[in-house]
Amino acid sequence: MRELLRQRLGKGATDAVEAFKEKGADFVIADSLDDLFAGMRRLAPDVELDVQAIKHELEARDRELDNTFTKDAQVTALRGARTYRGDKLIRVAKPHKILDEKHRPLIAVKLHVLTRKSLGGIQTDLSSRVLNAAGKPIAGLYAVGEAAGFGGGGVHGYRSLEGTFLGGCLFTGMQAGRAIAGAL
Ligand SMILES: Cc1cc2nc3c(=O)[nH]c(=O)nc-3n(C[C@H](O)[C@H](O)[C@H](O)COP(=O)(O)OP(=O)(O)OC[C@H]3O[C@@H](n4cnc5c(N)ncnc54)[C@H](O)[C@@H]3O)c2cc1C
Repeated sequence: MRELLRQRLGKGATDAVEAFKEKGADFVIADSLDDLFAGMRRLAPDVELDVQAIKHELEARDRELDNTFTKDAQVTALRGARTYRGDKLIRVAKPHKILDEKHRPLIAVKLHVLTRKSLGGIQTDLSSRVLNAAGKPIAGLYAVGEAAGFGGGGVHGYRSLEGTFLGGCLFTGMQAGRAIAGAL
């Protein structure tokens, strides 16, 4: 509990974020925008960097912090989250201008895009047996978890909540295991 309070209520970023800043292979830390761009270029020399467009977006976003009635969805969400005291204290940092020199360093993170959930997959029956185009089980072929559409979607439908995916993956794995054991 003391550790949680130290991390969350203390000044600055959490230890994990500091470790990423120090050791993260995909992190660029800089005290000026030009140095940040230079670091980003070193990290991803093949990616074209539209410096003017990035500056334009940063300045436009920072301008919205002066606007009490902003329609900027992210700034509005940050302000909204901070109306709940729990989030204000430990979860959502006070928004500030990204280019404000009092809040350096600037941080850029190289992203690696991945597929997080399939919301669909190989069609199976309740024993995880793969069905053919005619809806009949293909002998000896089973599909479970993400491959069978249970990483999201699946039993929960398109509006499945975050955190409900592993359950369906484990459940379909168990069903397949039981069906295979029964078939042997
Ligand atoms: C960033 C992230 C956060 C998530 N957070 C949550 C969460 O908070 N709660 C939740 O419930 N779910 C979460 N999920 C979803 C959940 O983790 C996945 O739906 C689940 O792990 C899928 O399990 P799986 O066994 O079906 O597939 P996977 O875990 O993808 O396993 C498939 C395995 O097959 C291996 N493989 C692939 N091809 C081959 C091959 N040709 N030969 C041999 N092996 C192969 C892969 O290496 C992998 O190990 C998250 C997913 C991601 C990506």
